[in-house]
Amino acid sequence: MSLDAALTALGVNTTPGARLDRLVYWRVGGPAERLVDVNSVARLRGVMALGEPVTVLGRGSNALVHDDGVPGLTLRLSGELAELNFIGPDRAWAGAGLGLTALINRLDKAGVAGAEPFAGVPGTVGGAVVMNAGTTLGEAKDLVEAVELVLPGGDLLELPAEALAFAYRHAELPPGAILTRALLRLRTDDVEGLITRRKALLERRKQTQPLDLPSCGSTFTNPPGDFAGRLIEAAGLKGAQIGGAQVSPKHANFFVNTGDATAAQLAALIRLARRSVRDQFGVLLTPEVRLIGPWPDDALSPDRAD
Ligand SMILES: Cc1cc2nc3c(=O)[nH]c(=O)nc-3n(C[C@H](O)[C@H](O)[C@H](O)COP(=O)(O)OP(=O)(O)OC[C@H]3O[C@@H](n4cnc5c(N)ncnc54)[C@H](O)[C@@H]3O)c2cc1C
Repeated sequence: MSLDAALTALGVNTTPGARLDRLVYWRVGGPAERLVDVNSVARLRGVMALGEPVTVLGRGSNALVHDDGVPGLTLRLSGELAELNFIGPDRAWAGAGLGLTALINRLDKAGVAGAEPFAGVPGTVGGAVVMNAGTTLGEAKDLVEAVELVLPGGDLLELPAEALAFAYRHAELPPGAILTRALLRLRTDDVEGLITRRKALLERRKQTQPLDLPSCGSTFTNPPGDFAGRLIEAAGLKGAQIGGAQVSPKHANFFVNTGDATAAQLAALIRLARRSVRDQFGVLLTPEVRLIGPWPDDALSPDRAD
């Protein structure tokens, strides 16, 4: 059976050559060989059993997609994989494809809190767990109790949060695993206080972040005891530009697409920032953004020749 026939038999919606630049925050990158919308665990298991190369996208808010696009199957999770199901007053399974803003709104309606660490983070539950996303109000590891995954080959696995070895903007999943849902520990105490803190955080973010241009938020993690944005600014790069890719004049850890940037230009700007900060201050910045597609291993290396 051909791959397309197998995907049709599984009942998933497949779009060959779908434009990914329209789906990711940076608005760059080439097409997906096949974009596959998967709306149930059973279908996801079926897709994974096909043995094809698979990439999963959340909202693409931390993803730098290669200009040549993404070979194989690019998955987006919806339907059952984006649901929120309470299993008690302060615990719920959240589907990996559920948007974080939708999660917060749903919790607000239910009179429950706990997802404040995700205030203003424009990703999905899946992307947030994989990145251990967070803010000054906490991070994913503070509320994730367990996760459910589909492994390459199609097996389903549940793991406790401790198995993910959460660290700063980092979690360890079994190789090639796709997260289907996360069990969240929520808060029924001090709901109003948490909402007030969340609103104050959102207000601060509006004032300090360049939210009017496409970006992936913080391009680099903060090195211990310092701030990536401070170092990039001190290296003289605030406002620096390569083609349409620019170090935001408002916040130097945000790299923005001023209109016609390519993924290659954003990668070159990331290398320039790493090289400049390393050479001037001896600090090697760690990219927070994830590379999607056929990037070489040294794509973001400060030593790669441009
Ligand atoms: C304006 C702006 C502000 C931001 N602010 C913050 C912030 O304050 N704090 C913060 O931590 N981040 C922030 N980010 C970055 C980003 O929103 C987070 O990292 C978010 O968690 C990424 O989620 P996503 O669904 O968009 O993931 P994507 O960007 O789509 O994917 C990120 C990685 O996760 C993988 N992935 C996604 N879903 C799954 C899944 N179901 N199973 C396995 N792997 C998966 C992808 O393959 C990729 O490797 C910001 C981004 C923007 C654009």
